[in-house]
Amino acid sequence: MPIAMAYAGHQFGQFVPQLGDGRAIMLGEIVGCDGLRYDIQLKGAGRTPFSRNGDGRAALGPVLREYIVSEAMASLGIPTTRSLAAVTTGDVVVRDTALPGAILTRVAASHIRIGTFQYFAAWGDRDGIRLLADYVIARHYPACAKAPNPYRAFFEAVIERQAELVARWLLVGFIHGVMNTDNMAISGETIDYGPCAFLDAYDPAKTFSSIDVRGRYAYGNQPRIAHWNLSRLAETLLPFFAESEEDAVAAAQEALDGFAPKFNSVYTAGLCRKIGLQQTRAGDVDLAKDLLARMSENHADFTLTFRRLCDAVDGSGTAVRALFGNPESFDEWAVRWRQRLAEEAIDQATRSGMMRAANPAFIPRNHRIEEAITAAVGRGDFAPFRTLLMVLSNPYSDQPGFENYADPPRPDQIVEQTFC
Ligand code: AMP
Ligand code: MG
Ligand code: MG
Repeated sequence: MPIAMAYAGHQFGQFVPQLGDGRAIMLGEIVGCDGLRYDIQLKGAGRTPFSRNGDGRAALGPVLREYIVSEAMASLGIPTTRSLAAVTTGDVVVRDTALPGAILTRVAASHIRIGTFQYFAAWGDRDGIRLLADYVIARHYPACAKAPNPYRAFFEAVIERQAELVARWLLVGFIHGVMNTDNMAISGETIDYGPCAFLDAYDPAKTFSSIDVRGRYAYGNQPRIAHWNLSRLAETLLPFFAESEEDAVAAAQEALDGFAPKFNSVYTAGLCRKIGLQQTRAGDVDLAKDLLARMSENHADFTLTFRRLCDAVDGSGTAVRALFGNPESFDEWAVRWRQRLAEEAIDQATRSGMMRAANPAFIPRNHRIEEAITAAVGRGDFAPFRTLLMVLSNPYSDQPGFENYADPPRPDQIVEQTFC
């Protein structure tokens, strides 16, 4: 029997005690040839006991967006649920207009969310939380079972994975779009691709989601939101952290204080790799952040700036400087950058090779996703979808003949909003 899972969640900061799989059913689990256990879920398969007023269905456009972006994330090396299949149903799904229906087959290490813990907490079901925690520890964090307090060790491990995950999102310019607590997986995989997007021009305040009117889930806010969500997870686990509430709160706080150092170490090491540094020395992080500030002021394309920087190691930097509204802003930075590079004895080809492995050429650009969706939904033409997937499966390599998939949108191609 397929199952729909119950969960609760904070949606844009507001607690909803019962959400649940309103348009997804889990077929079951399977052990992959890698020895790991996976959930197989159908998203958009129809109404469930948690559908509330929804129809339980999914439209083809969002299904293709999730397929493309989740597979691109996997190819970028970022933990994520995967897309095994997308099929059209032949049914009409009514949103603002009538749209073709589709079902996504989603594969995840598990679909257990922070909101799953919150569901049992909302019912005051302490035994339920313990059962769930024991299950998740056995499934995803087996090493924690041996710790003096397995629940604290588990919480610390979830914090580590989420801090690393969000750092890696930022390093590729990803905006999740709806970081509600029901959309954060305990396994540390990126889950629930709705109104997500990748940055074009670098702007920490950027949002794309049509429903995120106040910028809660803006690009640069994501670490803070992850920390906030983890605090909500802590609240559900407090009874298992210590005997007294005071000790439990202190333990939770101590664990949560580990978020920022973990996030910063992954993020700053990643930034330094992106600008071609092998070791991180004093001043390097400031150097990298100064580039980001200049990119933001000059509306430079995030992905392409770093990719072209790889060529600037042993070139003049003509291509990268052209991405800056005021190219001299890049030149000023590049003087200090080249001085710093000269302090490391690596040959230039090795260095630019390293940089290429840290700076993808191909990300799922919003206008390319739109193009693929428009062709599929409007004309039943899946060729642009397939080509895009093929290019995105190899994001760090130059792909002769497909160079224009690395291009930012022309002004008339810019996507300002994404929808779920
Ligand atoms: P999301 O914003 O996609 O994370 O969804 C939030 C909640 O709304 C979840 O409980 C979903 O299962 C539910 N939901 C979203 N779309 C539908 C739909 N078309 N029918 C029923 N439930 C839905
Ligand atoms: Mg969701
Ligand atoms: Mg969703």
